[in-house]
Amino acid sequence: MTLYPEIRLYIGGEWKSAPGLPVLNPADESTIGTVPVATRQDLDDAIAAAHDGFRTWSRMAPAKRADIMFRAAALLRQRAGEIAVAMTIEQGKPVAESRGEVGRAAEALEWEAAEGRRTYGRVVPSEPGMRNLVLRQPIGAVAGFTPWNYPIAQPNRKVAAALAAGCSIILKAAEETPAGAVHLVRAFHDAGLPPGVLNLVFGTPSEISEYLIPHDTIRMITFTGSIPVGKRLAELAARSMKPAIMELGGHAPVIVCDDVDPVATATMSAVTKSRNSGQVCTAPTRFYVHESIYRKFTETFVEKAKSLKIGDGLDPSTQMGPLANSRRIEAMDTLVADASAKGAHVLSGGSRLGKRGYFFPLTVLAEVPDDARVMRDEPFGPIALINPVGSLDEAIEKANSLPYGLAAYAFTRSAQNADRLADSVEAGNLSINHLVGSIAEMPVGGVKESGYGREGGTEGLSHFTVAKSVSHQIA
Ligand code: NAD
Repeated sequence: MTLYPEIRLYIGGEWKSAPGLPVLNPADESTIGTVPVATRQDLDDAIAAAHDGFRTWSRMAPAKRADIMFRAAALLRQRAGEIAVAMTIEQGKPVAESRGEVGRAAEALEWEAAEGRRTYGRVVPSEPGMRNLVLRQPIGAVAGFTPWNYPIAQPNRKVAAALAAGCSIILKAAEETPAGAVHLVRAFHDAGLPPGVLNLVFGTPSEISEYLIPHDTIRMITFTGSIPVGKRLAELAARSMKPAIMELGGHAPVIVCDDVDPVATATMSAVTKSRNSGQVCTAPTRFYVHESIYRKFTETFVEKAKSLKIGDGLDPSTQMGPLANSRRIEAMDTLVADASAKGAHVLSGGSRLGKRGYFFPLTVLAEVPDDARVMRDEPFGPIALINPVGSLDEAIEKANSLPYGLAAYAFTRSAQNADRLADSVEAGNLSINHLVGSIAEMPVGGVKESGYGREGGTEGLSHFTVAKSVSHQIA
């Protein structure tokens, strides 16, 4: 078994090797492969392929499309061990987490495959002799751009929804973690997906997005990544009046009320924060803990953070792997230095571990002043901020004080509190009394600068279709 696959472009149903850039293992900074850089000709070929692929795929019976998607999902499950190892080598997370990610991707793919058969339109009652229909048609060829934090789950979200709706797609996956996308495409190829329906490119992100987004063949954009890049791509999409899904950053608040067990809540929170080394857009980040349980909560969180075994994700005993790239280490250093200069207490972690590999411990900053950069800039790494609050009102006000609104969490046993939180927390996703991630049938997405559009659920799928009203006077 090769641990790391050859990374190639996939255009019009064919794999293409090309010279490229090194891909690094974040656990030891060694080079594990190269990622090809698409040329302008490659992009033109991908566009032509997506154009033709759309014709073929949109005209295929939905049940037949679903069959191919189910076969691809089965192949992902079969190959989960091999895929997980490749993802851990390129991205760093423990191999068990990588395996879980492959399983979730397969599950989401199955859900979209089944749901694609239910993109029903409507028959609207009308006067005699008139038949009014609302058809839901696939929007066309899509351009998808995905980040490095979930090398297979992120590409799968875009690809599965596009294909379920009957669209073709050109995916530009992350150059830093290309193997997840290559394995996804391989599964579709082996499942019998017709050429051109799914195309995979890598290269210089800004050049690719600037070429693909305005192109006539591309009818929709879907992006997951940072807010600044999202704004740039949204602007490009708006210039040619194209709809876009923007799944951007977050800075998730966690409101911990005085009626919960601080030990259980803190333990669960620390474990969740360590997942994917905190590089999750929905990661719990700003903990607003009622002052009556603040001390116990913080002590427990710190204890758990210090106990985590950090190391190479391939070692089965590792609980938290390295950060995915050196940019994240620099960002963590800057945020911790700024917060501590402004008076925050560094209760655990706070600096890089060792000199080789991008290891950074789960870091707890307590009593962090609101003017510290980390209270506003998304850390996108293993930093938890824990501050005391005196009331639920104060916690909600602080939770809503940032320009983000992706995920939010709350812990309370009171139905009244839960109801108030559901009404007033400004976020696309609110989880009460748990920190479990999203499921395929629920929409995920942001409000405010965290973006627009949804992924998952019927809401997510609907973005890939257009409603066409057909009014037919029969007599
Ligand atoms: P980034 O936005 O620069 O990169 C994210 C992804 O977008 C990368 O894979 C990159 O290749 C791609 N990208 C960058 N510029 C692009 C362009 N002009 N056109 C097309 N694609 C482009 O961010 P980063 O520094 O790699 O990652 C850190 C930030 O990413 C975090 O602060 C976080 O906000 C964001 N992020 C968000 C999510 C999410 O699910 N919302 C996931 C991962 C990362």
